[in-house]
Amino acid sequence: MFLAQEVIRKKRDAVGLSDTDIQQFVNGICDDSVSEGQIAALAMAIYFRGMSAQEKTALTVAMRDSGDVLDWRQDNLNGPVLDKHSTGGVGDVVSLMLGPIVAACGGYVPMISGRGLGHTGGTLDKFDAIPGYQTAPDNRRFRDTVKQAGVAIIGQTGRLAPADSRFYATRDVTATVESIPLITASILAKKLAEGLDGLVMDVKAGNGAFMPGYRESKELAQSLVSVGRKLGVETTALITDMNQALGSSAGNAVEVQLAVDYLTGKRRDKRLHQVTKALSAELLVSGKLAKNTDQAEVMVENVLENGLAAERFAKMVSSLGGPHDFLEKSGQYLPQASLIKPLKLPAEYHGLYLSEVNTRELGMAVVCLGGGRRKADDKLDLSVGMTDILTIGSKVDSESVIAIVHASNESDWQEAADSILKALSFSSNPPEPDSVIYERIAGETE
Ligand code: URA
Repeated sequence: MFLAQEVIRKKRDAVGLSDTDIQQFVNGICDDSVSEGQIAALAMAIYFRGMSAQEKTALTVAMRDSGDVLDWRQDNLNGPVLDKHSTGGVGDVVSLMLGPIVAACGGYVPMISGRGLGHTGGTLDKFDAIPGYQTAPDNRRFRDTVKQAGVAIIGQTGRLAPADSRFYATRDVTATVESIPLITASILAKKLAEGLDGLVMDVKAGNGAFMPGYRESKELAQSLVSVGRKLGVETTALITDMNQALGSSAGNAVEVQLAVDYLTGKRRDKRLHQVTKALSAELLVSGKLAKNTDQAEVMVENVLENGLAAERFAKMVSSLGGPHDFLEKSGQYLPQASLIKPLKLPAEYHGLYLSEVNTRELGMAVVCLGGGRRKADDKLDLSVGMTDILTIGSKVDSESVIAIVHASNESDWQEAADSILKALSFSSNPPEPDSVIYERIAGETE
């Protein structure tokens, strides 16, 4: 007989849980026979005791299979099904370019994304800035878009890993989110329910990352790669820098514009390009569309230069209800903030170098402008944010702009400007250049 308290007791006493223990507990989460108190107690026991590779795998499978698991075999796709997940950051607009790039290279990307919470942006909020774009299409339209455009970026439905939704809601209010086994199972349950052949994880490290230190980010990356591979999905991870915004814009409409500029070749920020190219290349190799990383990177450059990636983006937008001419007229369709004004530095800063950014605070400046949420049901102002964000190492002079702040009124603009200035440090010597991609994690690591 299944008794939730016995499973909790075992974990509390560091006794290994069997696959059956985990499956039955997850069944209880789904049919409400396990109480919120019991979920909280198990989460806390796991937080302190950890989980073996076998336990993490069993928890991932049980949560993945608690709802719909997509199966693409019936669609006769002529390429691998691939996706990327990022642990989140500021100015991280990679998904909007990576999906179309991978599609243009022969992959299929059914990307189920989330909304932003706290200082990090969310892919779905960005798509809300495109008029008509449906982030919750019916199943038919979703599958047709994946088939025809090769990529569909949409939101999570209630039928995708529902056990995780209940488990996560309890973790969120019981200080048990920060557990590597639980994060692993939570992320992978949702991603693997997409029916993937290959997955790349972008695990952020730095002061704007979800995990506090590099060691934890690496441990999470290793855990995700190892469980993903155990479950038959070619999984790799890159640990990438979040000690400053990744792209030069942060906000919703402004990041969509940055993605359009990137795809059409109008503007390609160096750090953003490095990460987008590397993550796309990982997927092309995992999906056997390229023999090695060098070949994959050439493919990525080609589909950017010949416009095929931009074409896939345009196709996805129109197939999901957005304007047919969005790529050409994005500036007319995206909402514009009422006050768009550059933030410059007073003379005392001239001659200094931008040496450090408190990225979390920078992200919070977007939240204060109304572009992010403090709580899950906050309504966003999609037009606000910042563009042309200065990168670390830049020398400040009388012409330098720290960022162009997009606000709905003067007092919000001023408040954001004050927060941005507080988030920056300057030095008289140029800082040591830092890499944007720290490490690649692949293969069995546990
Ligand atoms: N994101 C998730 O989807 N789950 C977690 O547990 C943490 C971050």
